[in-house]
Amino acid sequence: MIIVPESAIGELVSLEDCVDAVEKVFVSMAERSAHNFPVVREAIGYADALFGFKSGFDREGLALGLKAGGFWPNNADKGLTNHQSTVFLFDPETGRCRAVVGGNLLTALRTAAASAVSIKHLARNDAKVLGMVGAGHQSSFQLRAAVQQRQFEKVVAWNYHPDMLPKLAAVAEELGIPFEAVNLDRLGAEADVIITITSSFQPILKASQIKPGTHLACMGTDTKGKQEVDVALVAAATLFTDEIAQAISIGECQHAIAQGMIAPIDIAEIGAVINGQKPGRTSPDEITLFDGTGVGLQDLAVAQAAVGLALARGTAVEFDF
Ligand code: NAD
Repeated sequence: MIIVPESAIGELVSLEDCVDAVEKVFVSMAERSAHNFPVVREAIGYADALFGFKSGFDREGLALGLKAGGFWPNNADKGLTNHQSTVFLFDPETGRCRAVVGGNLLTALRTAAASAVSIKHLARNDAKVLGMVGAGHQSSFQLRAAVQQRQFEKVVAWNYHPDMLPKLAAVAEELGIPFEAVNLDRLGAEADVIITITSSFQPILKASQIKPGTHLACMGTDTKGKQEVDVALVAAATLFTDEIAQAISIGECQHAIAQGMIAPIDIAEIGAVINGQKPGRTSPDEITLFDGTGVGLQDLAVAQAAVGLALARGTAVEFDF
């Protein structure tokens, strides 16, 4: 069995590796070679924690396994991250546990990779201004991955808690891209690509604030009740997602679905765009919206990449199990 500890992931796995792995597994999902299994998430009645599993199997990439973990709200007091996760990979031939991989940084990287994949395939090629809505833990990862996809010349950003914005500004500065904190009207008027990555339960961006041709990657809504953009914007956009079942139940599309403004058939899987089965952006004025809900197969794909890299570099810890 192979162990890739959390501490090794940063040196081992790049954003490019994750974009590649996530792109491939999105295609496997669209081609029905890969399936996510039902998600388990439970309040354990101890330490105020939520614990669960995301699991699946990719017959193409031969990734079988699960991510186990959840949310421990009191961890910050102990100097630990509140979100904790570990990925377990199994040999699909035998069912034996093949690898245990630290999943905390990988979760951030695979989430950033998903919005980057959506920008790669759906944003206008001439996109110049990136809008960031959100400035929490995930936002800097999303920013770093996004700037690899287009020649962005400026970042405009808004956050519900403005005091969190300087941290994101520092990342933009490190990347050499001018950064400006703006109100939502200006953000919508200037941005060619917008990433939303908040834990909001109320719409933040409205359809009237978005200009034609914008691509939105809505990444924060991953639970029933969360919402980042108004239903009119969802209804006006050409819709894409990682997995339709999740988009309509826990993703940004859930509200427009519930109000009968869109139907599941209006949402395309991004994997089908990547492999050419479905069109992506069809006009420069179209508003495209990627509803990134986050699936277990993304976790397995990047964990598998981490194991492959650790083996190739001779840094994998291996022992008989
Ligand atoms: P975080 O706690 O570090 O940051 C939360 C962000 O939401 C901050 O920008 C904060 O200012 C903002 N926020 C908080 N309350 C708000 C409100 N009432 N209105 C508007 N904004 C508000 O969290 P994070 O790790 O950066 O994650 C952000 C979101 O992304 C969470 O909802 C998380 O569940 C989700 N997420 C999704 C995926 C996925 O695959 N789609 C993966 C990881 C995280």
